[in-house]
Amino acid sequence: MHKSLFIPGPVNVSKDVLEKMATPMIGHRTKEASVLQRNISDKLRKLMYTKEEIILSTSSGSGLMEAAVKSCTKKKAAVFAVGAFGERWYTMCTANGIPADRFDSVWGQPTTPEMVEEALSTGEYDLITITHNETSTGIMNPVAEIAEVVKKYPDVVFCLDTVSSLGGAKIEVDAWGVDICISSTQKCLGLPPGLALCSLSQKALERARTVENRGLYFDLVELYDTIQKKDYQYPSTPSLSHMFALDYQLDKMMEEGFEKRFDKHLEQAQVVREWAKKHFEMLAEEKYASNTLTTIKNTKGISVADLNKELGKRGFTISNGYGALKEKTFRIAHMADTTMEEVKEVLAHIEDILGL
Ligand SMILES: *Cc1c(COP(=O)(O)O)cnc(C)c1O
Repeated sequence: MHKSLFIPGPVNVSKDVLEKMATPMIGHRTKEASVLQRNISDKLRKLMYTKEEIILSTSSGSGLMEAAVKSCTKKKAAVFAVGAFGERWYTMCTANGIPADRFDSVWGQPTTPEMVEEALSTGEYDLITITHNETSTGIMNPVAEIAEVVKKYPDVVFCLDTVSSLGGAKIEVDAWGVDICISSTQKCLGLPPGLALCSLSQKALERARTVENRGLYFDLVELYDTIQKKDYQYPSTPSLSHMFALDYQLDKMMEEGFEKRFDKHLEQAQVVREWAKKHFEMLAEEKYASNTLTTIKNTKGISVADLNKELGKRGFTISNGYGALKEKTFRIAHMADTTMEEVKEVLAHIEDILGL
């Protein structure tokens, strides 16, 4: 039986979007491919509120996260972690021999502008990574406030992980001064996994041109220069199937209205938060709670694995806690095309199974 997904990616993909993945193949060096890739970039610029260039990558989002730190760190990276995905960015640095320091928040708490100020004022760093929406702890960082601090340091390249929020919350790339804003298709964009995307500022690009050993497949300079030269065609063969579906899904999102979608996710989050507070507790401080998923403290000591087994029999799946938070928390995601009705339905099933 197919299970309806309330996990933070992959998400349920609408049937019409899924069908676009089966579009007959075209050559990747054709005019059609150029038009398709240019159209996607134009639409993504609207969703990201940016005038900068868009890079598509046939990989998951992690590929472009690694690309960002590898292509753009010359001195040292300041990595801010509020959970597992911030930590991953630090591991990417060390695995590539990139000098980096990690600045952790207590899990459930955000990265604060003060923490960023303290680190950047040392002058040691020329790149910073921030997680917009931390999918392990359910934190949405106050990026608008953090951005005001980063703006005081024009030599610092600002990288933002919006893998689990782009399309589900407003991300103002240019207003915030984000140089590289990264996301994947399998979360709030509502596509299958396999394609990643980022915005790339001229500042980040100019930095990258001065960095050695950027690799090749994920070299942001190679990707940027190729799409300029070849009318939006990429150096290697991309997942055109994802592109057909993404182009279509972005049209659907624009028709619905981006702001309406952001509001929809917030309303769903508010319902899940109220439910969580009634029966359990939230992990995140509410002011910084994510709009696209809720991480719930398992204050009743239930077996999350058993709960999920029972939910599975009824055709639903939620997420256990991530890593060290397994069984201590569980997560209910409300991303992409999930409706309020579906959110209320899964909550009702959980209440019924647990006898709440
Ligand atoms: C899922 C996720 C990632 C990893 O993205 P992939 O597309 O799986 O590589 C990174 N950061 C956050 C916040 C995520 O939720």
